[in-house]
Amino acid sequence: MVITGERKLCMVPGPVEFDEKVLAAMATPSVSHMSPEFASVFGETIDIVRKLILAEKAQPFIVPGSSSLGWDMMVNLVEEGDEVLVLTTGYFGAHLSQCLEIYGAKVTQLTADIGYLPSNDKIKECVSETAYKLITVTHVDTSTGVLFDIQSLTEMVKSISPETLIVVDGVCSVGVEEIKFDQWNLDVMVTGSQKGLGTPPGLSIVIASQKALKVAQNRKTPIRSYYSNWTKWLPVMQAYEARQAAYFATPAVQLIYALHTSLIKILSQPLEERFKKHRDVAVEFRKDLKEWGLESVPKSESYSTHSMSALWLPEGIQVEDIIASLANKGVQIAGGVLKGYSSKYIRIGHMGISVMEDSRQHVVKVKEALYNSLKELGHHF
Ligand SMILES: *Cc1c(COP(=O)(O)O)cnc(C)c1O
Repeated sequence: MVITGERKLCMVPGPVEFDEKVLAAMATPSVSHMSPEFASVFGETIDIVRKLILAEKAQPFIVPGSSSLGWDMMVNLVEEGDEVLVLTTGYFGAHLSQCLEIYGAKVTQLTADIGYLPSNDKIKECVSETAYKLITVTHVDTSTGVLFDIQSLTEMVKSISPETLIVVDGVCSVGVEEIKFDQWNLDVMVTGSQKGLGTPPGLSIVIASQKALKVAQNRKTPIRSYYSNWTKWLPVMQAYEARQAAYFATPAVQLIYALHTSLIKILSQPLEERFKKHRDVAVEFRKDLKEWGLESVPKSESYSTHSMSALWLPEGIQVEDIIASLANKGVQIAGGVLKGYSSKYIRIGHMGISVMEDSRQHVVKVKEALYNSLKELGHHF
């Protein structure tokens, strides 16, 4: 057992800090995954996932695995030689592109400069020239903190190419940024448990539109995966949603209890309030840090996420030193992950209970520690 008194506050952009009730749910004594008790909890969890991103008609898949398993599930949609456009605003877009290539996609990557979005005109040009089977977009790229306007993008893409599927990596946005899955006409949302959903790592959550399911059903070649195969998981998800157990591979029972606990809490207040609180905290946080001389990686606040901040370090301050200095003060933050720039910036998560519950003082603590560490390292304010 970890001694909680010496535990550091975890302010990296996922895993986030977990509510005590969620942690307690991880200690749920063993229960059969085929029992009516578990079927009822899993079924309700699937229902709530739908409510969270307003996806009444779409199909959630909740499967043991990290969020990256959601990328792998695109094996259901991609066939050899399929044209795919990947919109890249950082590390995660580039790596999703690798994943799709492994499954035979012919990927065109539109990569934005660091801290920018790809130009709308360029996207339009690409979509007009090629009939892409799917377009992938990282809602929030956790390597840069750039937030994509997925509503406008989808509207634009579908007005030119209505058959193109929109696949969104929402690993660092679901639960923090507003998403209206059905209304915005999205096709796939990929997320996971440990960021905006405030649950320990280990669950892949994918929501697929009926259109995406149909594309998978009508493909010409077999789905080249066993574990990621939607044909295997669909009856299981449908059964649990009907409060009946079914088996393909053992669900992560305790993680489902934890997710259920976290989602019930999240949905116990209006989602708009949750989104607004995350916006307010993020804007205020960056405003203060900017005054100290820390510039955001995203070039404009208008497309900066509210789930985390990526901040360039002032000249002369080393990333290892600032991370170690904060760790000494009991706070964990993350360094950069962009190739060639990883030592030049830091990343701080502000999601979930750390944002929603002022009394925990998490954001105050990280700010205080950051201020003192900068001072100790010789930064002039
Ligand atoms: C964290 C993250 C991932 C990967 O999630 P894992 O749980 O580590 O597999 C993918 N995309 C984005 C945008 C992320 O933030």
